[in-house]
Amino acid sequence: MPMNFMCVCGAQVVAPDGSEGKKARCPACKRVLTIDKERDSKGRVTATPERQRILIVEDDADLAAIVRELLEVEGYEVLVAYDGSTGLDMVYEKAPDLVVLDLMLPQINGFEVCRKIKDPANVANKNCWRTPVIILSARSKDRDVRYGKAVGADAYLQKPFKTTELSETIGKLLEKKAVE
Ligand SMILES: [Zn+2]
Repeated sequence: MPMNFMCVCGAQVVAPDGSEGKKARCPACKRVLTIDKERDSKGRVTATPERQRILIVEDDADLAAIVRELLEVEGYEVLVAYDGSTGLDMVYEKAPDLVVLDLMLPQINGFEVCRKIKDPANVANKNCWRTPVIILSARSKDRDVRYGKAVGADAYLQKPFKTTELSETIGKLLEKKAVE
């Protein structure tokens, strides 16, 4: 009998019987998952993703490349979108564990992207409101910071940013998400 389990993206994955300890790929988000050897307290099969996935939404390709490299060195799987509309689609389809979001973006601005991610009534991906969002912006006015919080951003970092500050903020938010 095949084993069924739920991926972190919410999709059901089917693996052949006896797959404990083996790897499987989620057909929806394409994550590589290792099927846990032990079942959970309710006897369900569980799986652990190989790496946590971070989406960078940033129209400045040079900056996106810098952030990508920084996060890849830290062991994250990194996806990049260069405009707001593609960024949202990637949130829905790839279910990243965290989003680093610029504000001034082509097509849909960062505030609107954040508002849509954080909307619990969003039917495009019913789990995406739990995704931590870090706004990374050159805009530093109090009003922007307040508006960022109002649309649900979990953190607001100003450009130019310190790499340690970004990686610490990511670490804290992923830890918090894992506990919730
Ligand atoms: Zn998945």
